[in-house]
Amino acid sequence: MPHESRHKVTVAIIGAGMAGLSCADRLQTLGFQVQVYEKSRGPSGRMSTRHGEGWSADHGAQYFTARDPVFIEALNTWIKAGVAADWNPRLFVYEGEQWRESHSSERRYVGVPAMNSPGQYQAKTISIEINQTIDQIYQQDGKWFLRSLENGDITKSFDCLVLAIPAPQSYALTKLVDHSIETIYSSVNMQGCWTVMARFSEKVDMPFDAAFINGEIISWISRNNSKPGRTGHETWTIHANPQWSQQWIELDKEEARKLILESAKKLGLNCQNAEISIHRWRYASGAINTEMGFILNETNKLSLCGDWLNGGRVEGAWLSGYKLANAMNNFAETNL
Ligand SMILES: Cc1cc2nc3c(=O)[nH]c(=O)nc-3n(C[C@H](O)[C@H](O)[C@H](O)COP(=O)(O)OP(=O)(O)OC[C@H]3O[C@@H](n4cnc5c(N)ncnc54)[C@H](O)[C@@H]3O)c2cc1C
Repeated sequence: MPHESRHKVTVAIIGAGMAGLSCADRLQTLGFQVQVYEKSRGPSGRMSTRHGEGWSADHGAQYFTARDPVFIEALNTWIKAGVAADWNPRLFVYEGEQWRESHSSERRYVGVPAMNSPGQYQAKTISIEINQTIDQIYQQDGKWFLRSLENGDITKSFDCLVLAIPAPQSYALTKLVDHSIETIYSSVNMQGCWTVMARFSEKVDMPFDAAFINGEIISWISRNNSKPGRTGHETWTIHANPQWSQQWIELDKEEARKLILESAKKLGLNCQNAEISIHRWRYASGAINTEMGFILNETNKLSLCGDWLNGGRVEGAWLSGYKLANAMNNFAETNL
């Protein structure tokens, strides 16, 4: 089917993280009419950056890798546009209460000047309504209808609906409209992540820019200012490990902060004189065991994409959205 006739096919995408953005971008290229709804103030999802006065910190994804040629192609356009770059931190590993330098040759990339920059860049050409938390979806006479928490019923209706959100949030929306995916949700074990951001008035004397930590409450520490394009106060991001975070996800923020900072101090990062912010990620990581890539229900035209369907992580999320768009296009060729 030529692209012109596809202009009539309308698609709503819920979620403007990497998966939702790549799906939207690819569908538009293929000639679909796309509208994205995002509950927060901007795009990029868990690839995110917290900004304060004179400081910023990547508090979700810390870096990403690129292995698939299609994703590498997208990454190269971001690098060319100046919104992503290599990050070569002095990287240490803490294991068995010993420090060692990592000699991993893995190439690591980050958004520039902030982790959410590639998301913001992709969003420029996509129609996104922000501050719209979709809390109900239903299908009537073959069309999808949405309702948002903030604004009630959305007047437009759509031929196809894509959910590009974490599994537990996706389950909450689909449980009344599609039972065929329930068993898939139950195999996902999403884990939270307690994140502390510490701002210092001067450079901190540590032998590394980033470190993987084993056997402690903390699993990751990194100096944000070691990433390209970061200005402002010296800021460190500290992630508690997924198992500990999940076990203590309902902990009082003050208590979580205290325990994480004690662990950081033991590792040599004393945050006594730092200004501290803390963030609780309820759904940070997790994926189903078998990589399905995406889900496309050809009967009701409800689709799902996201990191949890494609191995987790930034690259998996982006590819999940991209592959879903291609599959929707193949389906449309013969059925719409
Ligand atoms: C602390 C942390 C550290 C991480 N570290 C790394 C790392 O180092 N490397 C790596 O590759 N990956 C890392 N990740 C994982 C990576 O961030 C994710 O795999 C990827 O960003 C997921 O993209 P996504 O589009 O699938 O989902 P998301 O980014 O979660 O996007 C979903 C979007 O949907 C929106 N949304 C949800 N519900 C609704 C609703 N009802 N209505 C409207 N909008 C809604 C959300 O606000 C969000 O913007 C990390 C994640 C966290 C949290």
